[in-house]
Amino acid sequence: MVCLIGKSLNEISKIVLNQSGHADHALEIAKWLYRKETSTFEEIITIPLILRKALDINSCIGKYNPIQVHESADETRKYLFENYQSQRFETVYMPSAKRNTLCISTQSGCRMGCRFCLTGKIGFNGNLSANDILNQYLSIPERSKINRIVLMGMGEPFDNLNEVKKAVEILTADWGASFGASNITISTVGLHEPLKLFLENPFCNLAISLNNPISHERKELMPIEKSNPIAETVNLLRKHPIKKPLRLSFEYVALGGINITERHAIAVSALLKGLKCHLNIIPWNSHEGTSFKSPSEIELNAFINCLNKNGVLTAVRQSRGEDIGAACGQMAGVSDE
Ligand code: SF4
Repeated sequence: MVCLIGKSLNEISKIVLNQSGHADHALEIAKWLYRKETSTFEEIITIPLILRKALDINSCIGKYNPIQVHESADETRKYLFENYQSQRFETVYMPSAKRNTLCISTQSGCRMGCRFCLTGKIGFNGNLSANDILNQYLSIPERSKINRIVLMGMGEPFDNLNEVKKAVEILTADWGASFGASNITISTVGLHEPLKLFLENPFCNLAISLNNPISHERKELMPIEKSNPIAETVNLLRKHPIKKPLRLSFEYVALGGINITERHAIAVSALLKGLKCHLNIIPWNSHEGTSFKSPSEIELNAFINCLNKNGVLTAVRQSRGEDIGAACGQMAGVSDE
C-alpha cells in the first residue's frame, strides 16, 4: 500500500489521477498532509468524499507517532521512532528563548564510525525514507513551534542524499510545509561525490563536521578522512561558494586535551582562509561510555581567542539534553524496555 507522506506533488497527482481525481485535488491533499495535522483521509474535507474513500482503500497517509519520549531538565525532548521496517531512530526538540530547533535523523545508525559518537558505535541499520524523515517533523506535538530544522541526528545525510533531498524539497515547497530553506541546515562529514551534487544546486544551509584540521589526527577521530580528506572538501567549497541567503558553517566538537591547542587553531584558520563561513564550537560533555573529556574553560578560551586572532568567526554552542542521551554524539536509538 502506498503512503502519501514523503511523496512530491507530482507523485500525489499521479495517485489522485488514477482514482479519477484531478490536479487541484492533489494540491489540496499535499497542503493537508504537510501543513495540517492530518492523520486520515476523512479529515481532508476539501476533496470529494468519493475520492477520500478511494484513497482510503488504495493508499495510506503514512503518519506514525514516536514510541517513546524523554524530557531533559533543560526542556529538551528526545523522541524515539520505529518505522514500518522496525528501524529505530531519534529526533530531538530543543526549545529556547530565541528559537525552537528540531534535530532530525536521516539514517538508523550510521556507517561513518566517528570515534566520539554513540550512533557510529551501534552500526548501521539502513537509510530512512523521505516518509521517515518528514514524519519526525509532522508527528511531534511541538511541530507548530519549530522554526529551525537541523539534519544532525543519527546518520550521515549525504550517505542518503536522494531521500534527504526529497524530504527537504517537501519541507520547503509552496505546496509542502513552506519552511524557509535558510532555516534548515544539513550537516555532513564531507562525502565528496554527494557534496559535489549538493553544491551544484544547494537546497538549504550546509554545515561541515570538521573537528580537527590536521589530516592524520582527523583520521583518528573520523575514519572518513582517509577516503574523503577535509582539504579536498574545502577545495570543493571554494570552487562552488554557497550563496546568500544560504550559509556555510563548520562544526567543531571541542575535546579536552585533544583538538583545541594553539596548533589546531592556527591550522583551522589556514584551512578556512578566504571562505565565507563561521565555526560553531560545541564543548564536549563527558559522559559514560566514552573516554573523551570536557575541555577546561582555560583551554577552550585560549582556543577561541587564537581562532579570533587569526580571523575565524566563532560561536560556542552548548550541547543540549545530556541527561537524556540527546546531546551531540549520544544518540543510540535504544528504548528503556
Ligand atoms: S557524528 Fe554523525 S557522521 Fe559521525 S558517526 Fe555520528 S552520526 Fe555518523
